[in-house]
Amino acid sequence: MRSRWFLVAVLLLASAFKPTTPPGERSAVLISWDGAEGDHVRANVAAGKMPHLARLAREGALVDIEVTGHGTDTKPGHAQMLTGYDPAITGVYTNARFGPIPRGYSIFERLHQAFGKQGLVTVMLTSKGPNLGSQSPPGSNAEPFSLARASITVWDGDRIRQAHSVGRRALRYIKRYAPKGRFFLFIHFADIDVAGHLHGEDSREYDAALAECDAWLGKIVAALAVEGAAERTLVYVSADHGFDRGTKRHSHATRIFLGSNDPELSQPGEQRDIAPTVLSAMGVDLTKITPRLPGKVLSKQGRATPP
Ligand SMILES: [Zn+2]
Repeated sequence: MRSRWFLVAVLLLASAFKPTTPPGERSAVLISWDGAEGDHVRANVAAGKMPHLARLAREGALVDIEVTGHGTDTKPGHAQMLTGYDPAITGVYTNARFGPIPRGYSIFERLHQAFGKQGLVTVMLTSKGPNLGSQSPPGSNAEPFSLARASITVWDGDRIRQAHSVGRRALRYIKRYAPKGRFFLFIHFADIDVAGHLHGEDSREYDAALAECDAWLGKIVAALAVEGAAERTLVYVSADHGFDRGTKRHSHATRIFLGSNDPELSQPGEQRDIAPTVLSAMGVDLTKITPRLPGKVLSKQGRATPP
């Protein structure tokens, strides 16, 4: 029994991100909680209902993020979160008006451009079919990630999954790749959005989905510690869009959030700032990126990406 508690204590000590880790040696996990409304998340964190996001934010920060420049839907939200570009460049405006994101523009591809194909492993793990899809069905538009897919080391999307299935797969990827070197793991949980559409943003079910996703965040962080990767791995949690308060829809749901153990994260911003923040934290030189990223790094300096 004593050795078990000793092990728990050691894991807790080893589970914090070490800010002195050089950006070029860091890994990152970016988690999207589909449809998680920013003020609702903040209220639940304050009420002690989301202890794992609260703990992450104590190491780094929890900042307010606005969705700007596009519809508050799953497709354009993720296109912007995962590229940093506005719809005029990604071609993804709403769930109904979209095309394939041009080749080379996603975080996955930017990381491979900067560090090579062997330099790190990229994984895209999703839980909705078409909205973050890679299919090119005959007679309709190719989905947003149909061109990016070829450059991502592990594509694990195009299917509907619940949190327990996504979470278990995420833990497997961490076990497989975290001990070997650098990785970027994107994990998408659809459950909060599904609960919101079925029961409303002010429902018990919506709260339960937030709590379940928070519990998986805790397991993901614990798995990084078990694999000895927590000290060099940044964890970010955000959303594609919020929810219209007290309703079952997200027509004008611009209020989201970014929570992370990234010690540099320190100012609120817009959804287009997430990609440059993550890329910069992982050591990508943003001045080398074309077209220029319109967003800024959400650090104390708040530096805009140079023209
Ligand atoms: Zn939705």
